[in-house]
Amino acid sequence: MTAGTARVAEVVVDGTALFLDKRFDYIVPPGMDVSPGVRVVVPMRDSVRSGIVWAVREVANVGGLRPLARVIDRVPVLTPHQMRMAEWLCDRYAATLPEAVSAILPGAFRVRVRKVIVPSADAPVPDDVKASTLFRFIAESEPEWSEIRARSKADERAARAWAEAGFVREELRVDEAVGEKRRAYLVTRASEVDLRREAERRSRRARRQSELLLHLAEAGEMPWDRRAYPLSSVAPLIEAGLVAVAERRVKRAPASLDAEEPWPELTPYQVAAVRALAEMARQGHGVALLHGVTGSGKTEVYMHLIRGAIEDEGQALVLVPEIALTPQLVQRFERRFGGRVAVLHSGLSLGERREEWTRVLEGEASVVIGARSAVFAPMRKLRLVVIDEEHEPSYKQEDAPHYDAREVAMWRAREAGALVVLGSATPSLASMFRVERGDARLVSLPVRANRRPLPPVDVIDMREELRAGNRSIFSRRLAAELERTVSEGMQAILFLNRRGYAHAALCRACGHSMECPRCDIHLTVHRRADGHVLVCHYCGHEEPLVRRCPACAEDALVPYGLGTEQVEQHLLRTWPAMRVLRMDLDTTRRKGALESIIDRFQRGEADVLVGTQMIAKGLDFPRVRLVGVVAADAMLTLPDYRANERAFQLLTQVAGRAGRAETDGITLIQTYQPGHRAIEAAKSHDYRQFYERERESREFFRYPPFCELAVFLASHSEERLARGAAARFERELARSPSAASLTVLPAGPSGIRRIDNVYRYQVVMKYAAWQDVKEDVVRAYRLVKEKMNRLGGSAVLDVNAQRI
Ligand code: ADP
Repeated sequence: MTAGTARVAEVVVDGTALFLDKRFDYIVPPGMDVSPGVRVVVPMRDSVRSGIVWAVREVANVGGLRPLARVIDRVPVLTPHQMRMAEWLCDRYAATLPEAVSAILPGAFRVRVRKVIVPSADAPVPDDVKASTLFRFIAESEPEWSEIRARSKADERAARAWAEAGFVREELRVDEAVGEKRRAYLVTRASEVDLRREAERRSRRARRQSELLLHLAEAGEMPWDRRAYPLSSVAPLIEAGLVAVAERRVKRAPASLDAEEPWPELTPYQVAAVRALAEMARQGHGVALLHGVTGSGKTEVYMHLIRGAIEDEGQALVLVPEIALTPQLVQRFERRFGGRVAVLHSGLSLGERREEWTRVLEGEASVVIGARSAVFAPMRKLRLVVIDEEHEPSYKQEDAPHYDAREVAMWRAREAGALVVLGSATPSLASMFRVERGDARLVSLPVRANRRPLPPVDVIDMREELRAGNRSIFSRRLAAELERTVSEGMQAILFLNRRGYAHAALCRACGHSMECPRCDIHLTVHRRADGHVLVCHYCGHEEPLVRRCPACAEDALVPYGLGTEQVEQHLLRTWPAMRVLRMDLDTTRRKGALESIIDRFQRGEADVLVGTQMIAKGLDFPRVRLVGVVAADAMLTLPDYRANERAFQLLTQVAGRAGRAETDGITLIQTYQPGHRAIEAAKSHDYRQFYERERESREFFRYPPFCELAVFLASHSEERLARGAAARFERELARSPSAASLTVLPAGPSGIRRIDNVYRYQVVMKYAAWQDVKEDVVRAYRLVKEKMNRLGGSAVLDVNAQRI
């Protein structure tokens, strides 16, 4: 190795091992063009890995360093702002750098190397060199070798001959850069002959060719989907002169600011809210809590602010709890802002996501809508961040890096000088507390946009139903209201926060409940065409439900506790003419199923929609008159310090689906605990009262927002190792300098002790400020994690945990 000044790149290298959590130095070979944010391939021990250049510096002595193997991108895939964000994620959530980078740019490190042939001379290949027409075409479009091979041995020979003559050369291509679009091709009609006749001729021997011709006869051109029509089926048609392949250049229609939908006149409350928020936005960074009752028209307020941001040449980010659950909201934005909207969701392929990112990066998209991970989108001119339904737990990522999109958004907004609007009908305690401390400003929409009152909420004591001899799952009142609603041609929503047919299978003789053999959790009963089955919602284990109890051998096992499937069954049995739709995880797995259910209900193809919490999030059905909560008790007993908050939020949100437009609504809550705090507050629509009481108990028991929580979780297939790791972590904390600033709850099994035969033990910590305890907690965490990894287990740390 020669000494002397040279450029050195600091690289974050892909991998989960703890030793990779730093930047590695590599020499930049002379002539190689690298800048921070580009992806590279680097040697690491005996192999190569992908990485991202973090910084480039001049050094006097590079003794011992190895050179970068190659550069992948011409333009950086991460902006400097995103790189700072990655560093902040590490600091705030004890994430490793590769973890943080992968969260910001999914698939960043997934690099694909392809062999392509590229034209090497400026002069075209002379006509007298033998090769098929097709080969000429593909040789000019930089095909992959595999595509050539798919075609013919002759072309493969031609490729070699051409390479020897210097017309083309072989090149290694690393996966396309994030900032570039992969070339797309169109198949077009190339001759005037009757393609239908040609299709007919081929319909037997070459079905795909025939299909393609028919399509072109109809449409003239189509995008070339190479999976449906591989080169081998297109090539003969090109050679026969029937079709041609052309590079596709699509330009989105330039979007006008006001797409199609007119802007309605705002209500006076909306006007005041927009004015106050726009004024805040003008002053730069700030945080506002928009507390608007359900149906108060928060979305309209967001859209006005977004329009302001765009007129100001800026970009806006709109976060929603789950993009799949909010097709209506996305449509509303698209109708207003047309082609300026970029929608980011997990259903996008890597390539599609990159295209959307590019549109954001280049400023073509000025409104980005997405769930949690959209908070990392590369906006350069961020002016506004809207966090809709800010109280939803899904903003917190459950896996490493355990980031909270609300916090990330606030960090970004602070850096960019943008306004954050947290919107909710039931603000989280954390956000309300922010207002109380003066860190956020409260803006309210106290009445509905349609000027109707909030739907009255009546609580039905199910104990009285039993006393009156009604054993149905529907109280007499709910049954009567259902009948009335349907007979008047209106719609109803029935909410139950449990999917499946029954919550559990229980033995009537001995009380045994059926548990999963691999998890410490009871099995849920589901209905299938051929009978009932028991399903584990954690590991997927399935077994038939039999009558015989394995514990006492009596034929006494029965489904116990309501699930949504059973509610649907009861409805159909009691009112056979009723048209019922069900919306839960089981009916919405298939792509497009959820949209279809929402669509059908909106079009009035059903009278009743039965569903889990999925139906509580922001849906807007104008014809819903009645909302029934079938069994509120299912959510009052969760073992979580936030159970009350969650219950109140869900009840209020569900109740808010009634009476949104054309009619007055009504909500009925069935429960065995009518005096429960969350139910009483939902009944009186009294957020303030709920907040005050909940705040008091949080303060008394010292729970967030009066402290922050972190949870350390060790997992191992051997219970003693998981337990031991948690105990070790606890001991490390006890003797650390931060011990006085930490309240450490005793190590013990986590909520579910065993999942899929892996044991889980945890340590819960409480502290006032992460900065004060961070160093010691992270040191203890890394120590135990390293040990656990060596033993074949794992350890994670969830900072600012929302659940324990
Ligand atoms: P939220 O998000 O606060 O629950 P939405 O924004 O969904 O409320 O608004 C509820 C309903 O009221 C929607 O159907 C919406 O189109 C309508 N709406 C909102 N603002 C207005 C307005 N200014 N004029 C007329 N209708 C409005």
